[in-house]
Amino acid sequence: MERFTITTRVDEQSKQLGEQVKERLLHLGWMYDDQSPEILISVGGDGTMLHAVHQRIDMIDQVVFVGIHTGTLGFLTDYAVSEVDQLIEDLTTKSPKIDQVFLIQINRKNHRDLPPLFALNEARVENIIKTQRIEVFLNDEYLETFRGNGLCISGQLGSTAYNRSIAGAVIMPDFAALQMTEIAGIHHQLSKSLGSPLIVSPDTKIKLKSDSYYDTILAYDHLHVRLDGINEVTCSRSDKCVKFARYRKTSYIQRLHSLY
Ligand code: NAD
Repeated sequence: MERFTITTRVDEQSKQLGEQVKERLLHLGWMYDDQSPEILISVGGDGTMLHAVHQRIDMIDQVVFVGIHTGTLGFLTDYAVSEVDQLIEDLTTKSPKIDQVFLIQINRKNHRDLPPLFALNEARVENIIKTQRIEVFLNDEYLETFRGNGLCISGQLGSTAYNRSIAGAVIMPDFAALQMTEIAGIHHQLSKSLGSPLIVSPDTKIKLKSDSYYDTILAYDHLHVRLDGINEVTCSRSDKCVKFARYRKTSYIQRLHSLY
């Protein structure tokens, strides 16, 4: 891999580090190619990596991602600022193991289908203003009617992100799955839903129907859209995968330890 590009967070440290990595790779004969890179180096935090992935969503199968975290420890990034020399050496001398993570495809429907959206971590259908009523279907079979703030659908990678903050299960990386977790569910005699996270096979289509998604937000990774006028949101495994270049063996348990 020799055609590279760099995405940096906007702070000075990340920008300077990005410039430094760029100059060193150019010096070693690599080609800076922002149009059709083979590898994208993200410099910043997990948010920067998510940004980079979404920026390249239309060419996601052609590019692999690797990250340096500046500031607090990142979960999607493998190298610390102090390890830039190691990163340059790994990039220029080693063949990486490629970890593929499927994206969640999000389809929205009113009287017609809208273009799909994609998420690496999760999709959240959430209304913080009034109680949201959502009918949940798994592969078109009715499961339940949820009432509360909303529902979060995450993949394995996103299991440690927002999902973990709402008491969802952490899913190990060798287990591809979709997880549905309630956000402030209302539970009493007249309002019954599972009340616990539900983990399903990645081939399950999770359909979330509502009579009204007025004032409801669909948040997906760091992005969001309003759902006014929409009455159906379906989450499923996409054919698109994000490829992470792993040059070093960091066990998943080591990664988990960085979270607590
Ligand atoms: P951000 O980039 O500031 O990230 C928020 C936190 O989530 C950071 O600490 C980041 O390191 C962590 N994070 C992101 N992806 C992760 C992953 N896969 N595993 C473990 N930690 C992860 O926030 P943003 O730009 O608003 O949103 C991006 C992502 O941040 C969202 O996809 C969401 O999962 C996560 N997030 C989490 C919370 C929460 O836990 N309450 C709140 C907002 C956003």
